[in-house]
Amino acid sequence: GQKPAQDSRVTPMMAQYIEIKAANPDSLLFYRMGDFYELFFEDAEIASQALGIVLTKRGKHLGQDIPMCGVPVDRADDYLQRLIGLGHRVAVCEQTEDPAEAKKRGSKSVVRRDVVRLVTPGTITEERLLEPGRANFLLGLARRRISDTQWCYGLAAVDISTGHFVLSETDATGLPAEIARFEPREILVPDVIHDDPELSGFWRETRASITPLSRDGLDPASAERRLKEYFGVATLDAFGSFGPAEITAAGSVLFYIEKTQIDSRPVLNPPSRETAGAALAIDAATRANLELTRTLAGERAGSLLATIDRTVTPGGARCLAERLAGPLTDSDLIRERQDAVAFLAENADLRERLRRILKRSPDLARALSRLSLGRGGPRDLACVRDGLFAARELGLELAITPDLPKELSTNARQLQSLRTDVADRLAAALADELPLLKRDGGFVRAGYDANLDELRELQQDSRRFIAALQARYASDTGCRTLRVKHNHMIGYFVEVPQNVGEDLLKDPFKDIFIHRQTMAGAMRFSTQELGELEAKIASAADRALKIELGLFDEMAQELLDLSGEVASAAGAIAVIDVTAALADLAVRLDWTRPVVDTSLAFAVKGGRHPVVEAALKQEGTAFIANDADLSGKDAGRILLITGPNMGGKSTYLRQNALIVVLAQMGSFVPAKEAHIGVVDRLFSRVGAADDLARGRSTFMVEMVETAAILNQATARSLVILDEIGRGTSTFDGLSIAWAAIEHLHEANRCRALFATHFHELTALAERLPRIHNATLKVTEWNGDVVFLHEVVPGAADRSYGLQVARLAGLPSAVVERAKTILSELEKSDREHPKRALVDDLPLFAAPVRSQPAKAPQKDILREALDALDPDQMTPREALEALYRLKAQR
Ligand code: ADP
Repeated sequence: GQKPAQDSRVTPMMAQYIEIKAANPDSLLFYRMGDFYELFFEDAEIASQALGIVLTKRGKHLGQDIPMCGVPVDRADDYLQRLIGLGHRVAVCEQTEDPAEAKKRGSKSVVRRDVVRLVTPGTITEERLLEPGRANFLLGLARRRISDTQWCYGLAAVDISTGHFVLSETDATGLPAEIARFEPREILVPDVIHDDPELSGFWRETRASITPLSRDGLDPASAERRLKEYFGVATLDAFGSFGPAEITAAGSVLFYIEKTQIDSRPVLNPPSRETAGAALAIDAATRANLELTRTLAGERAGSLLATIDRTVTPGGARCLAERLAGPLTDSDLIRERQDAVAFLAENADLRERLRRILKRSPDLARALSRLSLGRGGPRDLACVRDGLFAARELGLELAITPDLPKELSTNARQLQSLRTDVADRLAAALADELPLLKRDGGFVRAGYDANLDELRELQQDSRRFIAALQARYASDTGCRTLRVKHNHMIGYFVEVPQNVGEDLLKDPFKDIFIHRQTMAGAMRFSTQELGELEAKIASAADRALKIELGLFDEMAQELLDLSGEVASAAGAIAVIDVTAALADLAVRLDWTRPVVDTSLAFAVKGGRHPVVEAALKQEGTAFIANDADLSGKDAGRILLITGPNMGGKSTYLRQNALIVVLAQMGSFVPAKEAHIGVVDRLFSRVGAADDLARGRSTFMVEMVETAAILNQATARSLVILDEIGRGTSTFDGLSIAWAAIEHLHEANRCRALFATHFHELTALAERLPRIHNATLKVTEWNGDVVFLHEVVPGAADRSYGLQVARLAGLPSAVVERAKTILSELEKSDREHPKRALVDDLPLFAAPVRSQPAKAPQKDILREALDALDPDQMTPREALEALYRLKAQR
C-alpha cells in the first residue's frame, strides 16, 4: 500500500488530511466530506477490502493516483461495526466549522476538521455496535513489585456503555483467570507487562483486542489525581480502599477514555472494589471447556448462559452473564442471593407481576451513557423515561410485599428513593413517535412549549398561505394546472406547463414571475411573495429547531444531574430481573436450592447437565440423572470414571462442575439435592483429542494446563480431568495420568473427577483410600452396545471400542478383522500377562523381553509396525496401514 508523505505540491485539503492522519497512525481515518466519510491511501485499500466497497481514486499525490473509498454518514454505524468486529480502530474526523466560514477566509482555505472520537472495540456505545446482553469491558492493567519474585497486578474494568467500573487485584498466577472473568473486548497492556516473557503466550490467546500502552499515565500519583478529578472528590476513600496497582490501572483506563472520547466524558459509576478471592477463580481454558458463556465454537447459543438466560431486560442479561462469569466464594452472600431466588420461586404471582413490568423496561444504562457522551437521541430520552417508570412501578410492587429477603429489599429501597419527576416531565415533553436523531427536530409534543407551538403554527399558517397563493396565481394566469412546489435548489417556486410559461415571460406577468428554470414541458418561476414566505418559514423552522434542541439539552442535563441515582436504579432493575429469571428457571425446570457452606462437602443427588438435558428434550429423550459424592467421611475424594466412549463420562464430569458454578452464583441447581462446600478454584482439563488445534502442539497445551492444576489446586478446589495423557503414546500417557492422580490425592488433596480410558488406573483405588471407581453402565443387546448413561460404582470391564466403531459406521469388513486381531492380542496378553501394576511400583520397569544372544533376524512386519505411531494417525491412515500390513504377510 501507499503511505501519504508530506510534500509541498499537495492540495490544502490533502495537507490537512496528511497532518490529521499522521496524528492517528494506528487508526483508519474517517475523513468527513459532505455526506460521506472518505478514506484515502492505505486506509482506503484496507477498508474497501474489509467492507467489500468500491475502491476508486480521487486526485493525485506526488504524481500518483490517490486510492479512495467512502461510506455515507448515515450508514456509518454499520461500517464501523464491521471494522471494529475485524479488530480495526477508527478515528472519526468531522468538519468543525460551517463551510461558509472557511470561504470567508479565502477561496483556497479548507474547512477546519478535527478528530472528534476514536472508535475502538472497548469504547463503543452505539446500540447497533453492542450486544445487548453482554458487557463491553475495556480493561486496564498495571503492576507493582511486592517482593523480589512477586508482582501484584491491578485490574480496572470499565464498561463505558453502562458506566460499570470495577477494580481488582491479583497475583501473576491468578491474572489469566481474573482477565478471563471480564471477557474484555479490549485490554490496555503496558509495554512492560506485554513483554514479560512469562505472559507472552497469553496475549495471543485472548479474544480481546490488545492495545499497547507506553508509560503515559501510568504512575500511581497522576493516576490517583486523574481519578479524583474525574469523580470530583478530594479523596478516594469513599469508594473503598484500593491498592496502588489498581489505582494505576484505573488511571490508565481513564487516560485512554479521555484520549478516545476527546471532548466527551461518559458517566461512570464510582469504582467498586472486588476483594481478591471474592470470585470463584476459573481460568480461561476451564471457561472455554465448560462452555460457560460461549461454546467451543465461540457461539452464545448452546452455552450454559444461553440455556439458563430467562431475563427480560438487557441489563438483567448482562448482570446474569457477569454472575455466571464470576461466581462468589462467600457463602453468606451466596445465601442472600438464594434467599431472594427462593422467595420469588415461591411467590409465583409476584414474580409474574414483576416480570410484566420488567418487560417494559428498556436499556436504561446504555441510553444514559449515550446521553452523557452527547451521542444520545430522542429515543434515548424515551428509554430513560420508560426505565424510570418501570423502576417506580417495581418499587411500588415490592413496597407492598411483606417479608422481602435482604437482596430484594435493598434493591427495592434503591428504586423507592428514586426521584421520578424527571420521567413525568419527559412523558409530557416527548412526542409519541420519535425520530432517531435529534438534528431535524419533531420530537417535542404539541402543547408542551408555547413558543414552539407558535412557531409551528406559523409554519402551518404559511403553508395555508401558500395554498391560497397558488389558487390566486392560478386564477390570475388562468392556468388550472399551476402548482407551487419546493425543492432544495431554488426553494419555493411556481411550476406551469411550457406554453403557459411562455406567456408568463411577457406582460403583464413578467414583473411578477421571475424565470428560474426550463424543464422538459414545464417552466419554473419564483415570485417576491414566495421568497418572503420562504424566509419566514425558514426562520420559523430554524427557531423551532433551536427551541427543540434547547429542550433536548435541558432534559438530558436534568437526567445527567441524576445520573448516579439513575445508574443505581438501572442496577437494581437488573438484579430484580436476574432474581426473577433464576426463580422462573428453578420452578419450570424443577431445580433445587443447594446447601452451600464452608465445609469441604460435595454431594449431589440426581444431578443433570442443563445444556445436554435441554438438547435431549428437543429430541424427546430423557436425561438420566446421576449422583456424585466427593465428600463423605473422607473429604477430598477422587472419583475415577472409566467406561466406553459415548457412555456419558464427559457429560457427567461437566455437569458436576456446572452445578458448582450455578450454586456459587446464587442460582438453584439441576439436581434433586446438592450440598456444596464453597469451591475456591475450578479447574477443568480435557484430553488433547477434544481440543481445538492451536499453534502449540496439543500435548504441550495439555501438559501446561495439567501443570497449572497440580501447582495451584488447593483442598478447596474442584478438579475435572477428562482423558489426560491421551495426546502421547500409551505408556507415557498412562504414567503421566497415574502420577497426576497420585499428586492430586497426596499433595493437592482436592475434590476431583477423573475420566480415563486407561483401565489400569482403576487399580489405584485399592491402594489410595480416597480414590473411588465409577463407571458408566452399558448393556449389550443383539451384539450392539446400549448406553444406559447411569453412573455406578466399580470399573468398566471392557471398552466396547469395536461396538462403538460399528455404531459409527466403520465398514463391517474392518470391524470383523479388528475383532480377530483383538482376540489374538487378548490371547497373547493372557499367555504373557503383564505383572500386576499395583503390587509392583515403580511401574514401568516393563517386562524386558529376553533378547536372543545373536542379532535377531530381520522381521519386516515388526519393523513396519514399529514405524507406525497410532497417536499421530487419522482413522483412515490407520486403516490403510492395516491393509498394508496384511498385504506384507
Ligand atoms: P463420553 O465422554 O463417555 O464419550 P459423552 O459424555 O460425550 O460421552 O456423552 C455422549 C452422549 O451421550 C451425549 O452427547 C449425550 O447425548 C448422551 N448422554 C450423556 N450423558 C447422558 C445422560 N446422563 N442421560 C442421557 N444421555 C446422556
